[in-house]
Amino acid sequence: MRRIATADWYRTSSGEPRGYIDTGRLREVWFHTGTACNLACPFCLEGSSPADDRLDLMRLADVQPLVDEACELGVEQFSFTGGEPFVAKEFPAILAYAAERRPCLVLTNGTRPLLRRLAQIRALARAAHRVAFRVSIDYPDVARHEAGRGEGTFAESMQALKVLHDAGFHVSLARQWTADEDTAAVEAAYQAWLRAYGIPDDLLLVSFPDFAPPGVDRHTPEITEHCMTTYHSEQSRAGFMCAFSRMVVKDRGRMRVYACTLVDDDGKYDLGGSLRESLAQRVMLRHHRCFSCFSHGASCSEITR
Ligand code: SF4
Ligand code: SF4
Repeated sequence: MRRIATADWYRTSSGEPRGYIDTGRLREVWFHTGTACNLACPFCLEGSSPADDRLDLMRLADVQPLVDEACELGVEQFSFTGGEPFVAKEFPAILAYAAERRPCLVLTNGTRPLLRRLAQIRALARAAHRVAFRVSIDYPDVARHEAGRGEGTFAESMQALKVLHDAGFHVSLARQWTADEDTAAVEAAYQAWLRAYGIPDDLLLVSFPDFAPPGVDRHTPEITEHCMTTYHSEQSRAGFMCAFSRMVVKDRGRMRVYACTLVDDDGKYDLGGSLRESLAQRVMLRHHRCFSCFSHGASCSEITR
């Protein structure tokens, strides 16, 4: 087992015991299909772009043993993120394999790589388990969305939502959140767009703060053990993604298990080569993105919503 023993892993810069999460039952396993993406959004927390290979594209043979291990451990759901998962040639086969075993959730930008695969995707509506899609539409404003994602992407992504919904899939929408927003007004603007496309306006809207690109250290406040017991309860700690999930990445040809979807840019969160090994390790809250989980419950998961 990989051992992490540096002092700053366990203690804050002032020497206090660092906050941590001990993982309970494994409920969700994420697969990072690779950092390649057809888009190159400047704010991307994965640093993705068409040529990016920080994390390798996954193949079906990479994923099968970990899906099988997760099933043995009683996992409830598989979730997939990237990059853009549909850039990976074998992604439809990966999704089909997983959906025969557990419900699945796919995070997608809803643009050409997905739209090109619609025939394969439609077949997944007949899988043994539900397949759900979360499409990223950053703002309910065409110009603001396309400033990051590129011309024409707003209509493509709305169209993807519509097509997926009409094909019988559960769909949700990922959006960007800013501290100074009028949340009710933002959500009303999304609802108007959804109605305009003939999509139910009560979709789950999952909002995310700006997590900063990989490798950036935002110098957020440090989280101590005392913080985790003063400002959080046993119940709220159980809602942190690292308390019930893991994320698998392919890094330079090796399948590795990370603590969650938000920390794959820091090798200290590489918890081993198998899910069992990873579950034995305590997760220290040292990444700057941990503060988003601590302060306002940031989570990519739909399991606890
Ligand atoms: S579409 Fe998503 S994964 Fe691709 S560059 Fe934009 S934010 Fe990153
Ligand atoms: S980012 Fe959040 S879920 Fe991930 S390790 Fe930190 S606290 Fe846990």
